[in-house]
Amino acid sequence: MKQWIDRLRQERTLRPEELRQLLTGCDAETLRYINKQAQEVALRHFGNKIYIRGLIEVSNCCRNNCYYCGIRKGNPNIERYRLNLESILDCCRQGYKLGFRTFVLQGGEDPALTDDRIEMTVARIRQNYPDCAITLSLGEKSRDAYERFFRAGANRYLLRHETYNESHYRQLHPAEMFWKHRMDCLWDLKEIGYQVGCGFMVGSPEQTVDTLYEDLQFIRKLQPHMVGIGPFIPQKDTPFGEKKAGTMEDTLRLLSIIRLLQPHVLLPSTTALGTIHPLGREKGIQAGANVVMPNLSPVAVREKYKLYDNKICTGDEAAECRHCMARRMESVGYKVVVNRGDYH
Ligand code: SAH
Repeated sequence: MKQWIDRLRQERTLRPEELRQLLTGCDAETLRYINKQAQEVALRHFGNKIYIRGLIEVSNCCRNNCYYCGIRKGNPNIERYRLNLESILDCCRQGYKLGFRTFVLQGGEDPALTDDRIEMTVARIRQNYPDCAITLSLGEKSRDAYERFFRAGANRYLLRHETYNESHYRQLHPAEMFWKHRMDCLWDLKEIGYQVGCGFMVGSPEQTVDTLYEDLQFIRKLQPHMVGIGPFIPQKDTPFGEKKAGTMEDTLRLLSIIRLLQPHVLLPSTTALGTIHPLGREKGIQAGANVVMPNLSPVAVREKYKLYDNKICTGDEAAECRHCMARRMESVGYKVVVNRGDYH
């Protein structure tokens, strides 16, 4: 298997059978080997520098009913909130002082967050922080809306494709959601000029080696600037509340494979990975990730933005999260840097 891993690193190709073996028949030593190779590639491109993004969870209201997601419309056991412009700007102010130069506005597809309102929010942040990157992660919008946000100053957009296999998509989403629409959004975003992030959950229900292979093929086709992956974690008030969570090992394997396939890609070590294992995020970095996204949301709302159960860092102030992250990265030999961390 080491030969394939070497070839994956050199030629950036992987056959379906090899992926199967890497995911299902790989012992601890092989896992260490692929993680090591991917970490070396990341070190070569980014040094021991880790980019940080300040995550602001702007709303947990959502018109969609994704089966896996805790903020789905059909979850009655959740107290809904939406941050107003002032509190979003407050988060940015705090974040800027803490050394963040990227703000990520993430939320459900909240009908009250109209295109106008999003555009205005972006414009205000742009005005106050000309030296920062603005990332949006607000779901599927019209092309016109994406263009307006871009003109107002947004630079990046995160929209995980969730799965490239259409029938798998059907198993994760209700009938009123469309795989094709999500894909169109991603291509539109790219054409408009955003730095684009796609991605998927590892171990989502009904995911197979074959659907994962299609995900990797899609990543090669789209050539995104970022790829967000983290383990699926059940949320008890969703239809998938009783399903099994994705594993840390699988997530680390896939992080490494993606790093080897796309050496320059921005690859976060996610909060979900930190949720299933106390050292998950550190291990993610050691498997080839180069980005972390500490939480900048007001503490009062963090518990309410529960995409999945047992989410970490819900009680800590932004400053604590920021410093805790710096310490964690230092513990594995890395340094968190103060800059936008653009794709090159
Ligand atoms: N509404 C936005 C943001 C969604 S939340 C959008 O549509 O893009 C961001 C990501 O969290 C999702 O894309 C999904 O991949 C992930 N997520 C949702 N529920 C999850 C769960 N139960 N476990 C792990 N990740 C989850």
